[in-house]
Amino acid sequence: MQTPLLTPDKDPMGAAIADYYANGKAGKLRVFSSMFDEDEIPVKQLFRCFAEMPPMEQKALRRSSGKILDVGAGSGCHSLALQEMGKTVKAIDISPLSVDTMQKRGVKDVCLENFFNKQFNGSFDTILMLMNGSGIVGKITNLPVFFRTINRLLAPGGCVWMDSSDLRYLFEDEDGNLDIDIEDDYYGEVDFRMQHKNVKGDSFDWLYIDFQTLCLHAANNGFKAEKIQEGEHYDYLARISRI
Ligand code: SAH
Repeated sequence: MQTPLLTPDKDPMGAAIADYYANGKAGKLRVFSSMFDEDEIPVKQLFRCFAEMPPMEQKALRRSSGKILDVGAGSGCHSLALQEMGKTVKAIDISPLSVDTMQKRGVKDVCLENFFNKQFNGSFDTILMLMNGSGIVGKITNLPVFFRTINRLLAPGGCVWMDSSDLRYLFEDEDGNLDIDIEDDYYGEVDFRMQHKNVKGDSFDWLYIDFQTLCLHAANNGFKAEKIQEGEHYDYLARISRI
């Protein structure tokens, strides 16, 4: 949310996506966070086809209809699957390298665009935010801006399909009680930094939100959230629509 658009020298995920598309393989996409040990995103996973997607993503794609907006589309995996189903989709991303790769892969309507840019307009029946899509909201305090944005971009009767995770399992003690300080920031706010080869990105905020907190904020902003499916590990798919 804080980054308007990325530049190639600060875009490790875009570099990994472009590398994988050009060479059929990519170096490690390393992920650092103050909350977790160093991790890695398998770049191949960003190129998953419909059959390789988790059931929650498949459900969101099947239920997408009308004019669809794929937010933070990455390699274009969801947009390409939707096109194959004969659906109409616009893909946006803040990464010029990802946008370039999506064009090369055949995504028909691609735009280098920040979802939160007030000048970005349109009227969409479905907005897709997948692979912990709540992440790009960044922080709980950005939720009012998020709801204003979807209110501007959703056609009457439209909805957002978003997946997220409840990170409570990181803070639970043996008895299942949450070991968090109420004074602390919300427990799903994470800082990440990525690196691909020698391309290092800036640190960014990424929001994981539990379903109850999402419902509360949705209601405060004129929306409702329904849990449509649960994943295998505290993750879920939500459908967000106007009250
Ligand atoms: N949806 C894809 C990629 C997920 S990674 C998939 O499921 O494989 C998140 C993507 O969101 C990255 O490509 C990143 O560049 C993009 N992104 C982050 N913030 C954004 C914003 N504000 N607007 C548009 N895209 C954004």
